[in-house]
Amino acid sequence: MTILETPKVQRDVDVVWQNCLKVIRDSISEQSYKTWFEPIIPGKLEGKKLTIQVPSQFFYEWLEENYVHLLRKSLDYAIGRDGMLEYSIIVDSGDQKKKEPPIAINMPQHSSPVGRVDNNNHNNNQEQVRNPFEMKDLDSLNLDSYLNPNYTFDNFVEGDCNRLARAAGFAVASKPGVTSFNPLMIYGGVGLGKTHLVQAIGNFMKNRAANKFVLYVSSEKFTSQFINAIRNNSLQDFMNFYMQVDILIIDDVQFLSGKEKTQETFFHIFNHLHQSGKQIVMTSDRPPRELEGVEDRLLSRFKWGLTADLQTPDFETRIAIIQKKVHAEGISIAYEVIEYLAHSIDTNVRELEGVMISLLAQASLTRRDIDVELAKSTLRHLIKDSEKEVTIDTIIESVTEHFKVRIPDLKGKSRLREIVLPRQIAMYLAKELTNLSLKSIGYHFGGRDHSTVIHAIQTVNDLMDTDKDISGAVNKLLKVFRK
Ligand code: ADP
Ligand code: MG
Repeated sequence: MTILETPKVQRDVDVVWQNCLKVIRDSISEQSYKTWFEPIIPGKLEGKKLTIQVPSQFFYEWLEENYVHLLRKSLDYAIGRDGMLEYSIIVDSGDQKKKEPPIAINMPQHSSPVGRVDNNNHNNNQEQVRNPFEMKDLDSLNLDSYLNPNYTFDNFVEGDCNRLARAAGFAVASKPGVTSFNPLMIYGGVGLGKTHLVQAIGNFMKNRAANKFVLYVSSEKFTSQFINAIRNNSLQDFMNFYMQVDILIIDDVQFLSGKEKTQETFFHIFNHLHQSGKQIVMTSDRPPRELEGVEDRLLSRFKWGLTADLQTPDFETRIAIIQKKVHAEGISIAYEVIEYLAHSIDTNVRELEGVMISLLAQASLTRRDIDVELAKSTLRHLIKDSEKEVTIDTIIESVTEHFKVRIPDLKGKSRLREIVLPRQIAMYLAKELTNLSLKSIGYHFGGRDHSTVIHAIQTVNDLMDTDKDISGAVNKLLKVFRK
C-alpha cells in the first residue's frame, strides 16, 4: 500500500491532522511548533487510526518524550477519545548518495503510549520526503576531526600514574568499538593529561584508518552547537552529523552537568553510536559517581565500559616527562636542573611544562645557561605571579630569618642544635604546607633521605607538645603562610 490514496481519503487525513495542529499550535511556542510539528506529514487515516510520518527515529522519540500529552489532547479533539496514532519513520533511500539511512537503523523499537511505530515502509522510496533538516552527504561535510597532531602515544610518558588509562586508550585506538571499553571514560584532575591521551587515541585511529570519521569535541563546544542548532532550526542536521561519527571523543563531560536538554540529546547520540558499534571516548575531571547534575540514565551509560583514572605523576614520571620535553625542544639541560624541577613541582604536568617553557624563555632572553639557580629564580618568579607564596624555598627563607641562621648551614651537615632545630622545623613546615613527598623534601635539605625527614617531623611534633617556645615559633611561621 502506498500513500497515494484516493483524493477523498487523503483529504480526510489532512483535515484530521489540521485539526490536531490547531490544538498543538495553541499550546506551544512558534519555534517548537515549527521545529517539531511542521515537518510532520499526515500519512493515512484508517478508521480512528491516524498515521503520521516523521523524519527520523530521533524525531519520534523526541515527540514521545516531550509532546505525548499534547498529541493525546489533539487526537481527542480531532478524532475522539478512541483516536489512535501511529508513527511512520521516513527513510529516504531514493537518494543514492546516502549510503546509510541517517537514523533509525539498529535502533530498538519503542512502544508508545499513544500509538506505535511503523517501520515497515522503510524501503518505500516513493514517499515524498519533506524533511526540512536537509541531510548533507558525508563527502561534502567538512570532516575536520579537531585533533592536534602533537598529542600522540609516543610522547605520552607512561608511569604508574597513568598505566591503566594509557593501556585502555591504546586498546581502544587499536580496536575501536570492539573492546569492552566502550565507552572509555578517562578521568583525573587538571593538567594530568586527559586531553593529551584522548587526542592520542584519535590521532592513532585516524592515521590507521583514514576512512573512519574521528571527531574530537569539548563538551562546551557540543553544548553551544546544540543551542545553535535549536536556534537555527537545524537540530536534525546536528544529530545526523554526530550520528555519522565512527569515533566520538568528548572532552570534559563535567560541563554537561545541569544542562538537561544537551544531555538528552547526547544520550540519544550516545545510544545510537553505541548500538552501531561505534567507539565513544570521554573525559571528566572527576569519577562518574561524583558528577552532579548529570542524569542517572546517562551516568549508568558511562559505566557500561571502562573507567580509568589519571593520577598525579610520581617523581620518576616527572623526570621522564621533563626529559622528553627537553629532548623534543632539541636542547640539553643538566640532570641536576631536571631533578630540581621534578622535586619542586608536583602538582600536575601542565604546571611542569609551564615552568619549563618559562625557564627556556628566561635562558634565551638573558643568554644564560640553564642551571639550578636560573630554575630557582624562574620558579620563584612564577610563583609570585600566581600569588601562591608557599614554596620550599620561601619556607626555608622564613625559617632562616626567624632563627637567624644561614641557608647553606640549614642545608649543610652541621649537627649543632641551633642549626638542627631550625632545619627540622623547616622540614616540618614543608610537610605541613606543601604536597611534596618526603623524598623531595629531603632533596631540598642537602639531599637527606626520607627517614631523616620522618625523624625531623616526629621530633617537631613531640616538641610542639612539650615546649611552648617551639610551638609558639612553629605556629607563628605556619600563620605567615596560612593567611
Ligand atoms: P588535562 O586535559 O587533563 O587538563 P592535558 O592533556 O591538557 O591535561 O595535559 C596538560 C599538558 O601536559 C599537555 O601539554 C600534555 O601534553 C602534557 N602531559 C600530560 N600528561 C603527560 C604525559 N604522561 N606525558 C607527556 N606529556 C603529558
Ligand atoms: Mg583537558
